[in-house]
Amino acid sequence: MRDHAASYYAASSQAAPRPPLEGDADVDVCVVGAGFTGLSSALHLSLRGYRVTVLEANRIGWGASGRNGGQILPGFAASLVDLAARHGEENARRLWELSCEAVALVRALAASHAADCELADGFAYVATRPAQLRHARAEWALMAERWGYRHARIVEAGELPAIVDSRCYVGALYDTFAGHFHPLRFAHGLARAAEAAGARIYEAAAVLACQPGEPALLLTDRARVRATHVVFAGNAYLGRLLPLASQRVLPIRTFVLATTPLPPELSRRLIPSGACIADMDTILDYYRLSADRRLIFGGRVSMSGRPPPPQRSAALLRRRMVRVFPVLADAEIAYVWDGLVALTGHRLPHFTRLDRNRYLAAGYCGHGVALATLAGKLIAEAVAGEAGRFDILARMKPPPVHGGRTVAAGLLWLATVRQRLLELLG
Ligand SMILES: Cc1cc2nc3c(=O)[nH]c(=O)nc-3n(C[C@H](O)[C@H](O)[C@H](O)COP(=O)(O)OP(=O)(O)OC[C@H]3O[C@@H](n4cnc5c(N)ncnc54)[C@H](O)[C@@H]3O)c2cc1C
Repeated sequence: MRDHAASYYAASSQAAPRPPLEGDADVDVCVVGAGFTGLSSALHLSLRGYRVTVLEANRIGWGASGRNGGQILPGFAASLVDLAARHGEENARRLWELSCEAVALVRALAASHAADCELADGFAYVATRPAQLRHARAEWALMAERWGYRHARIVEAGELPAIVDSRCYVGALYDTFAGHFHPLRFAHGLARAAEAAGARIYEAAAVLACQPGEPALLLTDRARVRATHVVFAGNAYLGRLLPLASQRVLPIRTFVLATTPLPPELSRRLIPSGACIADMDTILDYYRLSADRRLIFGGRVSMSGRPPPPQRSAALLRRRMVRVFPVLADAEIAYVWDGLVALTGHRLPHFTRLDRNRYLAAGYCGHGVALATLAGKLIAEAVAGEAGRFDILARMKPPPVHGGRTVAAGLLWLATVRQRLLELLG
């Protein structure tokens, strides 16, 4: 797995390394993984008085949490209309409200613990085709008219240049409660807050095995941890440790670039609203401006699972970026990196208990900045015996990913072909 040293986020963050754990330890909760799920679990559990140890195989935020598009979004990868059709409107509404709580939680934690994370407001979910805009209207009708969400509105093509100045789109669902930020700095802020509340975080501490039991026993190459409860927060990177549980979560590699800082007037012209943007295509483009005016542009997926050479990812992403903003044809690309998104078959996160005292939350389908942060709070509630909200998602089990990566690669290939055809047909 390639390190994320090449990422703009790693290059623009600083955090003191934490030592690996050595020897034996007894704790109330051992958390495996220091991304948003693990760090938020550690913070919320510590605030409830549990003795928490976090074991991270690499560095804090090394996984998707320190590599993502930085978009803080309500909702799920599944559309609300589909959720209401599949699970009933009342269940869809409860899921929606949890996702809004997730955004509010990120905003509150960022304000209290990560003042340097460059939080900015707004998200435009842009339609590349009229059918997508029709679907966005149905989504809006559900969230706004039926459930009373006041932060979103439909933007017609004529008004779009005031939000994002690209000819690729026919309209948007514009949400002012959503936002964006520097995700690795947010992860570091969460880590500091968890430590201040009493948690201990160890880096270079890969968990090699976990024997179930009460207590469970976790082994690294230098330490043995006995834990009354375990939280598996390794998301797409957890496969080797938990092959069975990971069968419902498929890791897919995806790519991000950051340009050099754009001239101020150009950046203002491209995205006058300062919002983050994602399109509604199956294999989407998503982007935003960083506080130092770089365009951070993500998209594309690797179907083989093997990372292509960085020059190839850069060339693919550049082509997409220039399609959206032709004026950036000669823009200099300063960073390009990749990361694993964890997909589930039902496009909702996978929350589960492996047994009475071991919890797993993963599979946010590219929607985990807010949801993974909320997952930590819901896990802390569940460990404390208040599992009602954790169980809302735990009841919605994703189907196993039959055929694994090979079938997924085939499906992604089909989705790409379909998308290209639709683009060609206008
Ligand atoms: C390129 C990219 C762009 C994205 N863009 C967005 C976006 O704009 N908005 C959005 O909402 N979501 C986005 N996502 C998804 C989002 O980043 C994730 O859903 C979220 O960060 C998941 O957090 P996590 O803590 O569950 O997992 P991760 O952040 O992946 O953390 C898992 C951690 O566990 C550690 N680990 C794994 N196994 C072990 C082990 N055995 N022992 C110890 N440690 C272990 C890993 O080293 C890793 O640090 C994106 C994801 C990617 C990859």
